[in-house]
Amino acid sequence: MTDLFSKFDPLIAERQALLDTGVRDPFAIVMDKVLSPTQAIIKGKETILLGTYNYMGMTFDADVIAAGKKALDEFGSGTTGSRVLNGTYQGHKECEDALKDFYGTKHAMVFSTGYQANLGLMSTIAGKEDYIILDADSHASIYDGCALGNAQIVRFRHNSVEDLDKRLGRLPAEGGRLVVLEGVYSMLGDIAPLKDMVAVAKKHGAMIAVDEAHGMGFFGPNGRGVFEEAGVEDDVDFVIGTFSKSVGTVGGFIVSNHPKFEILRLVSRPYVFTASLPPSVVATAATSIRKLMHADEKRAHLWKNSRRLHQGLRDLGFDIATKEAESAIIAVLLPDQEKAVMTWQALLEQGVYVNMARPPATPAGMFLLRCSLCAEHTDEQVDLILQRFANAGRIAGVIPA
Ligand code: PMP
Repeated sequence: MTDLFSKFDPLIAERQALLDTGVRDPFAIVMDKVLSPTQAIIKGKETILLGTYNYMGMTFDADVIAAGKKALDEFGSGTTGSRVLNGTYQGHKECEDALKDFYGTKHAMVFSTGYQANLGLMSTIAGKEDYIILDADSHASIYDGCALGNAQIVRFRHNSVEDLDKRLGRLPAEGGRLVVLEGVYSMLGDIAPLKDMVAVAKKHGAMIAVDEAHGMGFFGPNGRGVFEEAGVEDDVDFVIGTFSKSVGTVGGFIVSNHPKFEILRLVSRPYVFTASLPPSVVATAATSIRKLMHADEKRAHLWKNSRRLHQGLRDLGFDIATKEAESAIIAVLLPDQEKAVMTWQALLEQGVYVNMARPPATPAGMFLLRCSLCAEHTDEQVDLILQRFANAGRIAGVIPA
């Protein structure tokens, strides 16, 4: 009998070799206690969280928590069913209403995760005669949605308007076209040149979907995302998003003004064949989304944090993926896995938690320490983070002593 696990042997060996050097496992951190959006206890130590997607710091908002508790009391702990058959509660409607108000769209559809929202759109909207044109660095959920469907897939070079234009120009005249973009690319924290990309996609008669997972909450006058800031709201057909980042809970969604949008509720398998979100989750999401409509101060402070951290790390001599802070993600580039893990561990020992990211999640084989800022990080916390980065970088020998 062939052991079906033997295909993972190289990965198991690589992982073991890393752990044998005595480092902590970067992919198995446990938060024993969470004190606030920016602080947790990890292995008994109070630690600043700089590796969450809690951009707007909504997870401990008093109104959000109260809404969740009330829904738990009034509607119970779970729906036990799919939206289509037995899982649509009043709270799902209220959550979709909050999204329609937030985005100013006619339609909103809530999925159980953002991953499933991407699966649900990509696998359904484009059939085997159609084309999905996507950025090579697209999130796994976009790729997986394509794999679940039958459309023909065309990739273009990351953030290259020229390559997008060229690839669209080569497609046969027949068949529909969907261009899929992301507002913020989450590994490097860079943003898409959406104005130019949307213009090119329109020129070639394509529909456009933008994933705003990492842009919702703090880009654009209403916090809708990079597409709002770029002024292309009227030309984007679908916006996909998640509740797991700025909204501070879990869930996913698509919003659209397309007149036939609602039919997706019957044909999108990742919507139909899975249980809906628990009432407490949609209640927290709806409350959080409505509060994010009036969060200018938080948005301003998040941008301040992001710019300060970017500049501070550059001044220390770290290599950063973007020239300036383009989003709330600041990605520090490390030469190899050993240096990345050493710096990561030195940070953790001093009380700063960041994400270590490595291939295949990263583009071009990069090793990254990914920092994500929160609107609730104080100025003092950003100072402490910079001091601790200076120490960690020197210990690992990645910045001058
Ligand atoms: N799209 C992008 C760009 C993401 O980064 C993520 C999650 N990291 C998702 C979608 C999926 O979101 P969720 O966590 O809600 O499944």
